Amino acid sequence: MLLSGNEAIALGAFEAGVKVASAYPGTPSTEILESLSRFSGVYTEWAPNEKVAVEVCLGASFAGARTLAAMKHVGLNVAADPLFTSAYTGVRGGFVIVTADDPEMHSSQNEQDNRNYAFAAKIPMLEPADSFEAKEFTRRAFEISEAFDTPVLIRTTTRVSHVKGVVTPGELMDLKVEPGIVKDPDKFVMLPVNARKRRAALEDRLARLREFAETFPENVIEPGRGKRGFITSGVSYLHVKEAFPDAPVLKLGMIYPFPEKLIRSFAEKMEEIFIVEELDPFIELHVKAMGVPCRGKEVIPAYGEIDARVVRQAVTGIAEEPAFAPVEVPARPPNLCPGCPHRGLFFALSRLDVFVAGDIGCYTLAFFKPLETMDSCVCMGASIGNAFGMEKAIGKDALGKVVAVIGDSTFIHSGITGLIDIVYNRGFSTVIILDNRTTAMTGQQENPVTGQTLSGEKTVEVDLPALCRAVGVEHVYRINPNDIEKTYQLLKREVERPEPSVVITEYPCVLLPVEKQKKKPVHLVILEKCTGCRTCLKLGCPAIEWVPVTEEEAVRLGMRPNQKGYARINPVLCDGCGQCAPLCKFQAIVIEEEGGSEGER
Ligand code: SF4
Ligand code: SF4
Repeated sequence: MLLSGNEAIALGAFEAGVKVASAYPGTPSTEILESLSRFSGVYTEWAPNEKVAVEVCLGASFAGARTLAAMKHVGLNVAADPLFTSAYTGVRGGFVIVTADDPEMHSSQNEQDNRNYAFAAKIPMLEPADSFEAKEFTRRAFEISEAFDTPVLIRTTTRVSHVKGVVTPGELMDLKVEPGIVKDPDKFVMLPVNARKRRAALEDRLARLREFAETFPENVIEPGRGKRGFITSGVSYLHVKEAFPDAPVLKLGMIYPFPEKLIRSFAEKMEEIFIVEELDPFIELHVKAMGVPCRGKEVIPAYGEIDARVVRQAVTGIAEEPAFAPVEVPARPPNLCPGCPHRGLFFALSRLDVFVAGDIGCYTLAFFKPLETMDSCVCMGASIGNAFGMEKAIGKDALGKVVAVIGDSTFIHSGITGLIDIVYNRGFSTVIILDNRTTAMTGQQENPVTGQTLSGEKTVEVDLPALCRAVGVEHVYRINPNDIEKTYQLLKREVERPEPSVVITEYPCVLLPVEKQKKKPVHLVILEKCTGCRTCLKLGCPAIEWVPVTEEEAVRLGMRPNQKGYARINPVLCDGCGQCAPLCKFQAIVIEEEGGSEGER
């Protein structure tokens, strides 16, 4: 069957008998849990954040279940706390953590090489190169986890996560650990007295893992022609094979710990060694530390994705033209969807002279023209702390000048603690929570405010206003951001308030299936009334188009001769949010049924 790497990991986990899986959605990892949720007998959940996901899975492992946590690369930063200590406690049931890295930052705020986490946390890491290996390595990871009493990391990159490849379904694996409550405080209670003993055990485990790596069948020497050898792993292996199909290759399936004897025996037979890897010189530093001469980052780029052409060019030193000439596509700046409720909020915010501390979500697109209403964006949940920090730096003069903007899911992920900080430390920052009833950016996953679980079950819905009041915010307001004027007036008042306040904008994402089914009032522009003032264009709604006219056309259409054009609403794109109509001082924008006709568009 043809599966993406993410789907293959899910299949591998199912075949390995995984019982509990937890994740926070994040590109390129999201489909792992979505796929796993379709298998029966596996409990799957969206956790509020990655730290919770790892903690849930570690607890399930303590109870003897095989368990999997998945996240994108930056998610592992959030989960780093339990990750490092899980290396000390070890496991009972096999525990696998997938980190999906994103070289080239296709959908991320940074580019980080999470192989470094394996080294820093002293946790073994496997790195599949394609979908076939993604499934097989997942199965093996559970065996290694139980055999060595350790969590195991699997690292993928975007190309492995999303590219489809042939996968062969396998037998369900036999489970070796008996589920149940086992009290073992020396192992599970990491007080210093126990942790010190486990620290020593950790080194002993690493030594055994190093020996294991020497004979691990996925660390493979592929003999070839010539004396120029490559050491590589993951998707970089495929680039090496494409660039130099006949060359000898040492392919590392286990990327940490390293099989040092294997590396030496390979290197001894070569005159020249190239280390081919994306991002950091992770293998290279290790091989050089062993005293083995090799070349890596001096020729292979240290950031972004690589491909076969880059590898060939780096090794031969001969510049190559790309196989395909770059395709000229019309410039299409990223934009919020037509009818997106966030647009109304950001348009209202653009009328205030405030610094907007933003966060991770579709609403980060408000950074682009014409809204240009996003002044910072650091990481999940950072907006509130950023805004509060500015307030503290500037003092009373910050009143009325700073707001934080954060999505519903991001607020639950890690924004709530920032809000508590504001209240506790007597701040006055205004926090705007954009509640669109979903985790929109990653593809509309459920979250604790949506009232539904990953498996579609109805559940308790976090009451955002009540939650904000519970942490001590007295001034909490709800507003429909499609009503731009009311939103503007409310924000204007709240940013000046010398106490913390929360404004929750409430309107569902227009791409939610239930929203798409609704019949919405399509808007249109009455040509005779449009003066071409362009005010409605400032919204940046993709449905509103500008039609330029010549002087003759303007006269023929009954406009002023100096009118340069008019606005037109594309009825296919219009989602009927109604944000544009009140902006037109000339009442040229109306609901279709209320006075427009086809000919007037
Ligand atoms: S529709 Fe109204 S706001 Fe838009 S350009 Fe015409 S007159 Fe101006
Ligand atoms: S009503 Fe106006 S702002 Fe809303 S989607 Fe239609 S054209 Fe865009």
